[in-house]
Amino acid sequence: MKRVAIVGGGASGLLCAIICARGSLDVTVFEQNNKCAKKILVSGNGRCNITNTNLTSEKFFSSNPEFAMGLIRRFGFREFEKFCSSIGLVLDVKADGRVYPQSNEAKSVASLLLHTAEALDVTIKTDQRIEEIKTLFEEYDAVVIATGSDAASHLGGNGSGYDFAKEFVHTIIPPYPSLVQLHLTSQLAPKMSGAKIDAEVTLFINRQKELSSLGDILFTNYGISGFAILDISQRASQALQYGEPVLISLNLLPHYNPQKLASHISSLCKNAPALSVLDMLIGLLPSKIAKHFLEYIELDTDLKLTDLHTKQIKKIAATLLAWKFEVSDTHGFRHAEVSGGGIDTTEVDPHSCESLKQKNLYFCGEVLDVVGARGGYNFAFAWASGYQVAQSIITKALQA
Ligand SMILES: Cc1cc2nc3c(=O)[nH]c(=O)nc-3n(C[C@H](O)[C@H](O)[C@H](O)COP(=O)(O)OP(=O)(O)OC[C@H]3O[C@@H](n4cnc5c(N)ncnc54)[C@H](O)[C@@H]3O)c2cc1C
Repeated sequence: MKRVAIVGGGASGLLCAIICARGSLDVTVFEQNNKCAKKILVSGNGRCNITNTNLTSEKFFSSNPEFAMGLIRRFGFREFEKFCSSIGLVLDVKADGRVYPQSNEAKSVASLLLHTAEALDVTIKTDQRIEEIKTLFEEYDAVVIATGSDAASHLGGNGSGYDFAKEFVHTIIPPYPSLVQLHLTSQLAPKMSGAKIDAEVTLFINRQKELSSLGDILFTNYGISGFAILDISQRASQALQYGEPVLISLNLLPHYNPQKLASHISSLCKNAPALSVLDMLIGLLPSKIAKHFLEYIELDTDLKLTDLHTKQIKKIAATLLAWKFEVSDTHGFRHAEVSGGGIDTTEVDPHSCESLKQKNLYFCGEVLDVVGARGGYNFAFAWASGYQVAQSIITKALQA
């Protein structure tokens, strides 16, 4: 029987272990944490957005995009659903394509992966941090690096997989935090900390409009967070890494256009002239944002609507729909859900996920230079790559 060592008991490592064991291989998983699957347990706010039915190329980011899509085509949603059914995990497919466990609990995903692996006699060694990769080849016929990325260090995220790959002269595409909150230079953002609103966020890099996202935003003491921010963070973080100027423009009232908003304000000026400009904004926005918005456009909060000029009305309307903030940094790997960059996939066989530099060395999951959008895409890649590694090792074992 061939012996396989899998370094990392996360999403990709556990799926890989199960498929290898089903292929009659003798599998050992080495996990540095006291338990496996810590990221699965916290994923999707404890619900685990386990994959997506729309696994299209624009949802995956890599310097070699075809690599991810090749794997996803071979182990897409239908194949993953079949795998889940084989371990007793029932899926709940949402109308927009996001997929969750029917139980709505991430812990059912982690438990079923672990219990299935254990039932197949996979040896799981927790509290076992691997420091040296080359010695594993003395005992094992195949070694799988499934160590994930630097993201979320409190859950075990670290860059050891990159160091292992470097020992075999692999190139590392510089990692950067993704699905991460952003730091803003503005002194006003911390003053609005805690205020949440549905907004449209538009990202500008080098003054060029890149992409927009609609969703909630939350001002924080360091800058800004929320789903709409996470959605633009991959591109923002990558640009910051290269020192490019990054701006976001917030449309705080996405259901208005400038004319409709200006006419709403004008009619209030006519019908409720004794109200203050702050009262008018409180009717539209959370009060913390309203107050500091006025500080930004240098209008006195007590200014009566009767005294508001047409020019000021136009300025308020235009700025509420495009309030610009300079982005200075991301909130870092510690707070990021995932990491972009990683092991250069041009040095990895796209059909087997085997290293092109070292025989019987395989890579799967986030340690590779592939990162997904929010919506279950990162797990989708972890499953697809973990599956491919296992299939390749089984095929090789059968040929031996
Ligand atoms: C808060 C949060 C929420 C998330 N929510 C979602 C979501 O809803 N949907 C989604 O698609 N993605 C989500 N993700 C991303 C997703 O969790 C990862 O993309 C996925 O877990 C990557 O799988 P992996 O197997 O590559 O790495 P991981 O799951 O991170 O597993 C790697 C494992 O290797 C271990 N390890 C590392 N180095 C060593 C070593 N030297 N020796 C031994 N063990 C080692 C680590 O402890 C870890 O257990 C979320 C991430 C976070 C942090």
